[in-house]
Amino acid sequence: MVNTQFFAAWIEEIAAVVSAQRDHLTQLDAAIGDADHGANLDRGFAAAREALAAASPATPGALLVLVGSTLIRKVGGASGPLYGTAFREMGKQFGDRPEVDLAELGTALDAALAGVRRLGAAAEGDKTMVDALAPAARALAQAVRDGLAAGEALGAAAAAAEEGAKATVPLQARKGRASYLGPRSVGHEDPGAASSALIIGALKAAGS
Ligand code: ADP
Ligand code: MG
Ligand code: MG
Repeated sequence: MVNTQFFAAWIEEIAAVVSAQRDHLTQLDAAIGDADHGANLDRGFAAAREALAAASPATPGALLVLVGSTLIRKVGGASGPLYGTAFREMGKQFGDRPEVDLAELGTALDAALAGVRRLGAAAEGDKTMVDALAPAARALAQAVRDGLAAGEALGAAAAAAEEGAKATVPLQARKGRASYLGPRSVGHEDPGAASSALIIGALKAAGS
C-alpha cells in the first residue's frame, strides 16, 4: 500500500530529476521542437512542489489533482495540459482513499494514459509521451498480474518507459510540433517521451 507521503515523495523526486535533466530535455526539444520542454517542466514541477507545501493535501487523490491543476496553470505548450490531465485523472481514480495498493496504482496509470490519449489523440508510434506511458502502464499491469513486489513492479514500469522513449528515435512524429518537421523528425528522441520516462522512473525512487 502507498499513501499520501509516497505521492509527495514522487513529486519531490520528479522535481529534482526534471531540474537535473532540464538542459537535456531542452536539447531534445531544440532538435525537433522549440527548445522549451526542460524549462516548461522545471517551472511546472517546481510550482507543483510549492503548491503541495502550501496546501498539504490529505489524500493521494487530492495531492495528484492539485499537482495536475498546477501543471495546467504553469506549464505552457502541449505538455502542460497533457501532463496536467494525466495527474488529475490519476488523482480522480483514487477518490478520497487514504492509501492505495499497487493494482490501484496500475489502474490509475491506465486512467492517466487514457486522459492523455483523449486530449492529444496520439496513438503509440506517433512519437509522443504516449510511447513511454503506454508500455509503462502495460508493464505495471503485467507486474501486478504476476504478483511482483512493489519495488520490482515499479522497476519494470520504469524500464518499459525508458525503452519506449528510446524507441521513439527512429520514428517520424505524427503529433505535436515535431510533426511539422515531417521526415526530419526521424533520428531524435521525443522530449515528452524522455520526460515521461523520468516521471515513471521517479515512482521507483519514491517507493524506496
Ligand atoms: P510544445 O511542443 O508546445 O513546446 P513541450 O515542448 O513542453 O510543448 O512538449 C512537447 C512534447 O509534448 C512532445 O515531445 C510530445 O511528447 C508531447 N506532445 C505534443 N503533442 C502531443 C499529443 N497530441 N499527444 C501526446 N503528446 C504530445
Ligand atoms: Mg517545446
Ligand atoms: Mg513551446
